[in-house]
Amino acid sequence: MAKIYDIAIIGGGPAGYSAALYGARAGLATVVLEKLAAGGQMGLTHQIDNYPGFDQGIDGFTLGQQMRAGAERFGAETRLTEVTKLALTENPKRIETTEGTLLARAVILATGANPRHLDIPMEQELTGKGVSYCAFCDGMFYRNKTVVVVGGGNTAAAEALQLSRIAKEVILVHRRDTLRATKIYHEPLQAAENVRFLWNSAVTRLHSEARLTGVTVQNLVTGEETLIPTDGLFVSIGRIPATDLVRDQLALDPGGYIPADETTVTAIPGVFAAGDLRTKPLRQVATAISDGATAVQFAEEYLAGLKE
Ligand code: NAP
Repeated sequence: MAKIYDIAIIGGGPAGYSAALYGARAGLATVVLEKLAAGGQMGLTHQIDNYPGFDQGIDGFTLGQQMRAGAERFGAETRLTEVTKLALTENPKRIETTEGTLLARAVILATGANPRHLDIPMEQELTGKGVSYCAFCDGMFYRNKTVVVVGGGNTAAAEALQLSRIAKEVILVHRRDTLRATKIYHEPLQAAENVRFLWNSAVTRLHSEARLTGVTVQNLVTGEETLIPTDGLFVSIGRIPATDLVRDQLALDPGGYIPADETTVTAIPGVFAAGDLRTKPLRQVATAISDGATAVQFAEEYLAGLKE
């Protein structure tokens, strides 16, 4: 008979491997299903300084490998495979992958969210070389430098404000003539002497010599183009949660995230949402780790109920 795991975790980022560590240490048969490599978004980050315990910081890829090794030390399994279909209301739950079908009593969804890209030439090549998708992660590298932030939502506003305390100048480029961000951000941003706004504008080209050296900004009303020398470009135009797999089984919020509170419990019994793919105010390694641990706590309660 096919093995039935206690917990299958979809996604091997920090939320996934935190759940795997807690699950395996609790003596539960735990498997992580990961498409590429341990680490998720974190694995693409060159230097992580805002996750405690590393006095010199650590690169995200190494941290991902260490999180995987830490969970496997207690017996968690990793399968590098792509999940293609989930039957979440069945008992046990059925997980179809490119390598075959798995069964699990509980499922923790931890597939994360990917930053939305501008989709302009050289964006990918310059990521980590001046182009960033997270000011809270990379802002410190731009002390006393000039940075450009693109976006007009709460994240862009919060990031511009945070960067204004670090950088020499912050230029906020937004495609509308006003911010979408909540009012609480407007006043402090307007008051910050080193924040400049370029309204009705879009970044259309990136310039580089090994690293980013400048951006071309186009005024969307007049069509006029301006070259702005800059050390950093923070693209802050929203995220795309990786929730396509569950779209037909779980109601999602308007942004595509899985509605779940701090318990990570979803609308389907035995299914939990941990990390960036759930509704939450702050998407960071530290909050993902917390979700993974919490998800296992509630998964254990669910599993105990099944055995009664
Ligand atoms: P968001 O609210 O979806 O805002 C994205 C911004 O990027 C919008 O201003 C949008 O412009 C712009 N944009 C989208 N695609 C673009 C493109 N291709 N080129 C240029 N600009 C583009 O995303 P978010 O700011 O990341 O926030 C996500 C969620 O987290 C929101 O619900 C937000 O309220 C919440 N959040 C809350 C806080 C807080 O302090 N309460 C902090 C951070 C995040 P348009 O305005 O023209 O659509």
